[in-house]
Amino acid sequence: MKILKFGGTSVGSPQRMKDVSALIANGEKKIVVLSAMSGTTNSLVEIADYFKKKNAEAANNVINKLRTKYIGHINELHSTKEAMERTTDFVEDVFMYLHSFSTSDFNETSEKTILAQGEIISTNMVTNYLREIGIKVMLIPALDYMRLDENGEPDLLYIKKNLQGILEKNPDYDLYITQGFICRNYHGEIDNLQRGGSDYTACLIGSALRAEEIQIWTDIDGMHNNDPRIVDNTTPVRQLNFEEAAELAYFGAKILHPTCIQPARYAGVPVRLLNTMEPTAPGTLINNNMETGRIKAVAAKDNITAIKIVSSRMLLATGFLRKVFEIFEAYKTSIDMVTTSEVGVSLSIDNSSRLLPIVEELKKYGTVEVDRNMCIICVVGDLKWDNIGFETLVTEALSNIPVRMISYGGSNHNISFLIKEDDKKTALQALSNKLFN
Ligand code: ASP
Ligand code: MG
Repeated sequence: MKILKFGGTSVGSPQRMKDVSALIANGEKKIVVLSAMSGTTNSLVEIADYFKKKNAEAANNVINKLRTKYIGHINELHSTKEAMERTTDFVEDVFMYLHSFSTSDFNETSEKTILAQGEIISTNMVTNYLREIGIKVMLIPALDYMRLDENGEPDLLYIKKNLQGILEKNPDYDLYITQGFICRNYHGEIDNLQRGGSDYTACLIGSALRAEEIQIWTDIDGMHNNDPRIVDNTTPVRQLNFEEAAELAYFGAKILHPTCIQPARYAGVPVRLLNTMEPTAPGTLINNNMETGRIKAVAAKDNITAIKIVSSRMLLATGFLRKVFEIFEAYKTSIDMVTTSEVGVSLSIDNSSRLLPIVEELKKYGTVEVDRNMCIICVVGDLKWDNIGFETLVTEALSNIPVRMISYGGSNHNISFLIKEDDKKTALQALSNKLFN
């Protein structure tokens, strides 16, 4: 069994829904995870926001606009009256339901329930379309098996038991469709796996069922070796190790949800990134293999703040770093990069909302300096310490760029640089020229 996930743009118009349907209806046994049509979740966030602020009029305006858009989509998607009516009835009910929040008490679950409707609609549309063209398909509601535990983490045992149960009771299908992103929490209320969480859904299903492969279909040809929006001549990377992929996803390569591949990695299920616009292209395969002797890719993450604490008290002292880290922990701010010297430590954070109190507390331990608008450049590949030459190659590429921090040796496949955001484009292009072209 394979798990295929199609993101918002892949189902972003009636034509794209038809293209996806043609791609998935090939008789191979599979579960297909769908996102909401692109833009829909953002509109739902807006609607929930207005309800939260008790501005029902504005919420209802957005709902009406969205409804008009969907009625147009439905007319374009279906060619028979019967299918058109079936989908219209379903979608009209959803929009009536959305309007009903005007009069109800609004809480966190109301918000999550509103956000869930995008996937509920898109899966219904595609399922009805497939049935209209004569394809046998079963729609499995994600809310029947996707669940969080008391810590808000996916409850893998529950997911496995319930999804397997549903599949065993309905064995006569090749094609199952389900919603990405949405789930229930520990109390059974509607919840979600955070924005962009449909990738996570696919990986959770794939690992629960020990699938043959998880395929993430987007509209770019796999993970590229550099950011194609910024750099010329990028090419898709054919294979990545799970850890390399996680590192790239976290540090900017927008194609994959950063935490989503962890379950696949633990279950040893390969993940393949594929392109809906070019379905026969090989894409990127992510698995446990570690290709040696190569630098694979570069990614960048903006909006980074660097903080330096210099203190003679650090000299020969124990517990200094712990005290520094505890301050960040107390303000729920996670640290990305760390470099140390005998008298100082520099760290980088990407969430600077608690910067002021953090800096105030740090001042107790030394002199504090802050650099804003920085950017992490992350290079992944075979960067084991006993290799020679790669660190030099990477630093040489950046020889004309002021570097604030370098972090190497934290793992076997990464070296990171902190530079000014203004230098990002030059740095990325220089790295591509040196490493890949
Ligand atoms: N529809 C959700 C979002 O826009 C989940 C997803 O597309 O992955 O965040
Ligand atoms: Mg080395």
